[in-house]
Amino acid sequence: KADRIHNFNAGPAALPLPVLEEIQESFLNFAGSGMSVTEISHRSKWFDDVINDAIARVKRILKLNDRYQVLFLQGGASMQFCMVPMNLMGDGDSADYVNTGTWSTKAIKEARIQGKSINVVASSEDRNFSYIPRAIPFNAGAAYAHITSNNTIKGTQWAQFPDTGGVPIVSDMSSDIFSRPLEMEKFGLIYAGAQKNMGPAGVCLAIIRDDMLARTPEGVPSMLRYSTYAEKNSMYNTPPCFAIYTVQLVLKWLEETIGGLDKMEALNRKKAGLLYDYMDQSDFYRATAERESRSLMNVTFRLPDEDLEKTFVAEALENGLGGLKGHRSVGGCRASIYNPTPLAAVAALVDFMKTFERKNG
Ligand code: PMP
Repeated sequence: KADRIHNFNAGPAALPLPVLEEIQESFLNFAGSGMSVTEISHRSKWFDDVINDAIARVKRILKLNDRYQVLFLQGGASMQFCMVPMNLMGDGDSADYVNTGTWSTKAIKEARIQGKSINVVASSEDRNFSYIPRAIPFNAGAAYAHITSNNTIKGTQWAQFPDTGGVPIVSDMSSDIFSRPLEMEKFGLIYAGAQKNMGPAGVCLAIIRDDMLARTPEGVPSMLRYSTYAEKNSMYNTPPCFAIYTVQLVLKWLEETIGGLDKMEALNRKKAGLLYDYMDQSDFYRATAERESRSLMNVTFRLPDEDLEKTFVAEALENGLGGLKGHRSVGGCRASIYNPTPLAAVAALVDFMKTFERKNG
């Protein structure tokens, strides 16, 4: 493992080493089948065991009651930007959206493309999406209230979920699913692309409540209807078998090695705390998100100037710390420290930051 770097990529992102090792070990002969997991039929008992165990783990980890179904979809989280309004809004309905950055903006755009009536009830665009809005005037009659729980690019996260007065929340949790316990009663639908907190690219997890599942209007094509996946255990057509298998192993790691979401959250707080505490006492590094809205997953920060930022990213890589460049749309630096990122990786980053500050500050 000596040749592996500390990986702070935003997604696809680091996976737990024991998961990668298990994949490697069983790759040529999966579960005694004499075939690779990428060669077995999705209609085989071997794959049934994989997908059923993955679903059971999602239900246990999030303590889902039997009103919720767990679905594996394709098309990434971006496909959900169109499927959500397509399935959950009927004629004459309107839906509330909170705009907290790039991904919320895209979700709003995809709903409006379909001619849906969307009310943007709050936005943090006025301060460059550096915070999560509060005291939001949600509409009591909305079909749902859409939020992005963690904003991967701007480095903000909802610390508490809003009170919508009973309107079901639909949340894009692509970059913080399984990072903390959730009060599931508030949510009608959660979706998350796998490639940050839970697996490789190619699969999107959706957790949907029965009343939302029943809403889909007539005329929505089979592949775009949630019920198609719900009725066929996510195997209406060939699912992304390898991605689902990796998700299963990551969930097993989360349950059995980490010990569930309370433990995961405590560890995530500790990791993010190391970075934010260090930056708060430094005049050299500046965290870009407002304090109460800071993300535990994507720590975005600036150095005194752009040349120093370039040098920082390059020298970090020379020191075995990769993926620290900020998103191309915002610049600066970003350390993505999802569930699989070990505390030791964050500690190594803070050490490097101290040395770099001493040399250049
Ligand atoms: N939502 C969020 C919060 C994201 O971070 C991303 C990807 N970075 C997306 C949606 C889009 O995901 P995908 O590439 O799986 O469509």
